[in-house]
Amino acid sequence: MSIFSKIINREIPADIVYEQENIIVIKDIFPKAKTHLLIIPKKEIATINDLQEDDRWLLADMFFVAKKVARDLWIEEWYKLSFNVWEKAGQEVMHIHLHLLSNI
Ligand code: AMP
Repeated sequence: MSIFSKIINREIPADIVYEQENIIVIKDIFPKAKTHLLIIPKKEIATINDLQEDDRWLLADMFFVAKKVARDLWIEEWYKLSFNVWEKAGQEVMHIHLHLLSNI
């Protein structure tokens, strides 16, 4: 089980910013910007390369959640969204997550 699944299951604590049926948003424990959130599907998918056709709407939902939290936190003027894919790109947690960063 990934560390993010443990957070989703409330087995370990995290700063939860937003949650809905299929997605949770937490603050990154080692923020690389003033605002650094992780948008995480509750379904444990290891990497973007492991996405299945069925995950299409889940992925779309992740971007709509990004837009919503950016608006709620008043950082919609600018922010960055990114996925790391595999270790060489910096992926440490093998459970897909969308980084949302802003310095507003
Ligand atoms: P990545 O390197 O793309 O896999 O991103 C993983 C991110 O998860 C890193 O930015 C870590 O700082 C963050 N992280 C790891 N463990 C936790 C945790 N327990 N709570 C919040 N963020 C975490």
